[in-house]
Amino acid sequence: MSVNGQSPSSRSHASTPASRFRALEFERCPDCRMDPLSGRGFRACRQPRCPFIPRELDPVCPECGYDVANDRGTPACGGPGVCAFAADEGPRRVALLRAWRERHEVD
Ligand SMILES: [Zn+2]
Ligand SMILES: [Zn+2]
Repeated sequence: MSVNGQSPSSRSHASTPASRFRALEFERCPDCRMDPLSGRGFRACRQPRCPFIPRELDPVCPECGYDVANDRGTPACGGPGVCAFAADEGPRRVALLRAWRERHEVD
């Protein structure tokens, strides 16, 4: 296991390895066929986002609502056209989402 090129992050909103591992075990809620990567799908829970999706798998910025996975919305939290989440935690969540999708059947 290599740690080359990995700069340690002590940011408070960064997820821990343990929480990322738990996120990979996430099973979609039975009433909801939402694909967290695309944000599309049937949502019986009638929420804009399924409330059961772990924080580590949600590619939408909690500040400005910019969807990093799908480039939807308007980045704004880091200034006009800039999303701090998209430059930091967002891409890590998208990578984790892709890993999650490989482990779960998503139609
Ligand atoms: Zn749901
Ligand atoms: Zn943002």
